[in-house]
Amino acid sequence: NPTVAIVGRPNVGKSTLFNRLIAERKAVVEKSPNVTRDRIYGRARWKGETFEVVDTGGLDLESSAEIAQNIKYQVDKAIEEADIILFVVDVREGISPLDREISQKLRKCDREVIVAANKMDDFSAQDEPWEFYNLGFEDVLPISAEHGKNIGDLCDKIFARIDIDDFKKNSADDKEILGVAIAGKPNSGKSTLVNQILGQERVIVSPEPGTTRDAVDSIFERADNKFKLIDTAGLRKKSKVEEDVEYYSNLRAIRAIERADVVVMMIDSVEGITEQDKKIAGYAHDEGRPIILALNKWDLIEKDTHTADIFREEVYRQMKFLRFAPVIFISALTGKRVGEVLDLIEYVYDQTLQRISTGLLNEVVEEAVQMNDPPAYKGKKLNIYYATQPEVQPPVFVFFVNDPELVHFAYERYLENKIREAFGFVGTPIILKFKER
Ligand code: GDP
Repeated sequence: NPTVAIVGRPNVGKSTLFNRLIAERKAVVEKSPNVTRDRIYGRARWKGETFEVVDTGGLDLESSAEIAQNIKYQVDKAIEEADIILFVVDVREGISPLDREISQKLRKCDREVIVAANKMDDFSAQDEPWEFYNLGFEDVLPISAEHGKNIGDLCDKIFARIDIDDFKKNSADDKEILGVAIAGKPNSGKSTLVNQILGQERVIVSPEPGTTRDAVDSIFERADNKFKLIDTAGLRKKSKVEEDVEYYSNLRAIRAIERADVVVMMIDSVEGITEQDKKIAGYAHDEGRPIILALNKWDLIEKDTHTADIFREEVYRQMKFLRFAPVIFISALTGKRVGEVLDLIEYVYDQTLQRISTGLLNEVVEEAVQMNDPPAYKGKKLNIYYATQPEVQPPVFVFFVNDPELVHFAYERYLENKIREAFGFVGTPIILKFKER
């Protein structure tokens, strides 16, 4: 989504405008240690389109040196984070020296700037705040953040200045090639799986043995989706010496996981779970990657109707931290369920991109709290005020509470389970954060 940053000197009405723009009443406040005031994020909707709004922080400072310092900071942040900048000024006070300083900095950046001439409460008297054109920007719009006047026009102006289709195209491009790391210990069947997939699917780019480091990924197409198997050269032409050494094979796995959108963890069903499996899977988990547990060489296992369930339980017992990850029983050699692995990759990727609206999330959290009140901990009671999901991939949930110290591990796990019950998030780690409000 496009991002709009609000800048301006103190008391021009930045927060009021911010609150006007955002659809959800509750914004995400991010505390950063070296900023005088918090940066605030929110999401706005206008005519079916969505944009992010950032209030880059105010300047509640005394000395002019500090104020100048902070303007620099605020504007730099805005430029860094935003596609469009709303520069708020006060029509009652006119152009102040500080406004001039901000505009000087803004003119030097390559972002679109819209001047919002705020506190224009009487629109009948004077329709154009002409003097603000002196700041040197093309777009000057009178508004009243407090009375909600011309806010729609302001949104129209924002969308006139950005090519929304561009953003959609970009995000589609990003989504277009889904990076997959096939991880696992030596001989778990990684190369066999890669060769099986590349043999079945329409390959677009494939590394030849001995090609340069840049061409180590294989790209293939399946239905409308493009996948990239990461570091396939390392898998397809194996140097026996290197693969023998656990250290190098782990290092290789780590590099692939870092570049991946989804991790397929290959486990040798005949051998069962080993320490090395746990290490690699643990790394993927800590990196917040969606994970699929592929129990390979399933063709070699003697089975009855319970075998799969027994294996699945054993996997979850040994890797408790991966209870959210789907288990699939495959044979890389025969190709059995290899197609389903690709379906699952798409599915868990969608899951990690899921974003829950603040309203819906809080309904679920409220119900969870009602069903199971937070127990008193250290003699005090935890109060959860509200929750919000500021991030995806992996999804992050921020809970605003009276005291984060009071969150017991068991209760955190309970909340995570409730979120998963309600929204799924299959295969993806989710992160819960607790902040004091
Ligand atoms: P990598 O080191 O993880 O890349 O493992 P490889 O793909 O080289 O496989 C190691 C050995 O296991 C090879 O001899 C493969 O033929 C065999 N293998 C791999 N997958 C399967 C499978 O699904 N079933 C059986 N029976 N053998 C397999």
